[in-house]
Amino acid sequence: MENIFTEVKNRLSIKDVIEHYSLAAFNRDNKCHCPFPDHQDVKSPSLSILKDNNTFRCFGCDKSGSVIDFVMMYKGVDKVQAVQMLNEDFNLGLNFKEQSKKKIDIKKYLLTCEKDIDQTDYFIKRGLLPTTIKKHRLGYDKVKKAVTIPYNGKMNYGQIRYVNEKRFWKPPTNDAGAEPIYNENAINDKDNELIFIVESPICAMSVEQYNSKAIAICGGGGVSKLDKALKGKKTSNLGFILSLDNDDTGARYTDEFVTYFKAKRIRYVICNISGKEKDPNDLLKKSSESLVKNIVKARNEFFSKCTSYGDLKSAQEITNMTLKPVNWLVNDLFPTGLSIICGASKIGKSWFVQNLCLSISNGDKFLDKPTSKHACWYMALEDDESLSQTRLKMMLKGKTAPANFFISYEIYPMDKVDKNRPTLMEYIAENIK
Ligand SMILES: [Zn+2]
Repeated sequence: MENIFTEVKNRLSIKDVIEHYSLAAFNRDNKCHCPFPDHQDVKSPSLSILKDNNTFRCFGCDKSGSVIDFVMMYKGVDKVQAVQMLNEDFNLGLNFKEQSKKKIDIKKYLLTCEKDIDQTDYFIKRGLLPTTIKKHRLGYDKVKKAVTIPYNGKMNYGQIRYVNEKRFWKPPTNDAGAEPIYNENAINDKDNELIFIVESPICAMSVEQYNSKAIAICGGGGVSKLDKALKGKKTSNLGFILSLDNDDTGARYTDEFVTYFKAKRIRYVICNISGKEKDPNDLLKKSSESLVKNIVKARNEFFSKCTSYGDLKSAQEITNMTLKPVNWLVNDLFPTGLSIICGASKIGKSWFVQNLCLSISNGDKFLDKPTSKHACWYMALEDDESLSQTRLKMMLKGKTAPANFFISYEIYPMDKVDKNRPTLMEYIAENIK
């Protein structure tokens, strides 16, 4: 039995297991809201994945452990029951008597199921056309009474959904590799490609049915799945329409994609194509005309808003904007934010900057322009204290130096790289008052 426990822990990823049972949505940092009902504080995602040893830990309610521990706690079962449940739900093919290790041959399984697709009306009932069903090589498992959805033409990954129950399973990571984005082949950087991003494969197929391309993120980690799919591709040819589910999770995923697209300067629009329904497939089931109308509207919206990168705005939009006034440190010269002063060697950059700092920390004029009084910190990385002292005395001409002007000779990192060394923000909070 001990071997079986180890095998289950090795073959299943803790993230897949938590997602499967609790439908929790993980963010980019592999954190999610704690799904345990006795966890009180639900404001921030407190449950983290510890990738190295494939375990989880909630910093709120202090629950932690392996895939087996999670199922025991979440389902309220004992260790053997938990393993049997995982074996069943993830098709691990474990034999409790012989302990045989049977790897799932995903491709063979999906191909077999593809032959039996006519034995279910599951997809027809959900509004998919026979041509769509054939194109996406959907299948049916007669024994399990479940439909199979391959992720791509290579048939090396798939999702299996039970027809009569609201549950599904995905192949164990150790057998099939990490879950890719659904319909990755839609991303082709040769044309001026426009791609819808939805949450589930069936929604992607619903959109593709009407002359459009769509990918599905299939649960958490969508941004990193997409990032992987975009590797080596020319993203300036691509455009994305974010049409995630109409719920809190969908909104969270949307935010994550917006941050990513902005950072990568990839064109996008956010467009709800589901109307009042939860997702595009729900709308398709109600009215295919409405879905088509929304798809066309979304495409038009993309091309009217995004002729270039996502941050492109018309002159009219800009003139109509209510903007905050510029905050000047030195009037008409240095606004708050980042300014870079460049100049030839020995031209006087250090003198200039120390003079600037003296003026701002005193609230005095600089180059005849009014300044706004603030504390200053000069990182004189090439100087030392004696050089600073000589120069300050020359500039101050006998006046007292301001107490809110600081000089340091080393730099502090933005991130916590060393527990004994403060980050820049920690250093500021501690020292610059
Ligand atoms: Zn918790």
